[in-house]
Amino acid sequence: MPGIIDPQTSETHTSGRRESRGCGANSSGERPVGPANTGRSSRLMPHPERDGAADASRPTSEIAGARRIVNAMTVDVEEYYQVSALSERVMREDWERLPTRVEGNTDAVLRMFAEHGVRATFFTLGWVAERHPSLIRRIVDAGHELASHGYAHFRVCDQSPDVFRADVRRTKQLLEDVGGVPVLGYRAASFSIDEKTLWAFDVLAEEGYAYSSSVYPIRHDHYGMVDAPRFAYRPRGDGGIVELPIATVGLFNRNLPCGGGGYFRVLPYRFSAWALRRVNRVDAHPCIFFFHPWEIDPDQPRQRGLSLKSRLRHYTNLRGMEGRLRKVLAQFAWDRMDVIFLSRDESATPVPSA
Ligand SMILES: [Zn+2]
Repeated sequence: MPGIIDPQTSETHTSGRRESRGCGANSSGERPVGPANTGRSSRLMPHPERDGAADASRPTSEIAGARRIVNAMTVDVEEYYQVSALSERVMREDWERLPTRVEGNTDAVLRMFAEHGVRATFFTLGWVAERHPSLIRRIVDAGHELASHGYAHFRVCDQSPDVFRADVRRTKQLLEDVGGVPVLGYRAASFSIDEKTLWAFDVLAEEGYAYSSSVYPIRHDHYGMVDAPRFAYRPRGDGGIVELPIATVGLFNRNLPCGGGGYFRVLPYRFSAWALRRVNRVDAHPCIFFFHPWEIDPDQPRQRGLSLKSRLRHYTNLRGMEGRLRKVLAQFAWDRMDVIFLSRDESATPVPSA
């Protein structure tokens, strides 16, 4: 059973049992990185220490008494009809004729972040960037990080290595062309890298990505690796790419989700806030949080004929989501993934000229 070394206590933790649904899921060989593991950690900022340092450019709005750890806010930029929960009813051939909402929704997200003084990372589909180039430029102009969510939301476990390579290469180039900034981060559709597709991490490194955030180590019928480490690690060992997993809280020998997705909409806000705070205080790590622009759009067209599970997963509490997000933005400190996890040298990598 693999474990991860806690930087504070050097204890080795293991998470829940193996998962066998979804992409096929399960544990991975891993090298934890961070303050307790020097590996090639010069590429990574030692976050708890750095986060303790004063930095006037960072958000400081926090609840009283919370440690001054800056967390990573991320947005997966896609249309409301491109998510896995709706794929049972919405065919890819239908995408072009469905009413688009992504631009209005993402602009609402940008306004919300501006009001709270928060910078974030936007993992964006190439498909969206092609159709909404001015939106991509507004994301970049507002000071956010532009990152890749693949071209058209194909799950990694449904692709061959060659197809995956072409997808992540094309998307990186497209986003860099449209946004005019380097694209260093990648997030797999539906967190779909699993133990059979660990080669994807090698491909990402070879294609010039500096980090992946493609693992949500919880029990889930769509997600890939329940036994993966909870914090930054190198799934392919020293010299390989860094994986930065979505936040979970360790409780009762299980990883419970607290980094966003449907859980943040469905579970009581108090649980999420408690869990995020606990990761900051007890684990002394930044949390990585994610949501989608369509989650703050209660008026989006509804799909008929969905299973009860899919209906609950997609539509529960859309109306309350923006209020919850505003609370979490106000009560914790947030910044972009690259600012929190990458060294300045790496973030400054110029885009090669065509
Ligand atoms: Zn997605």
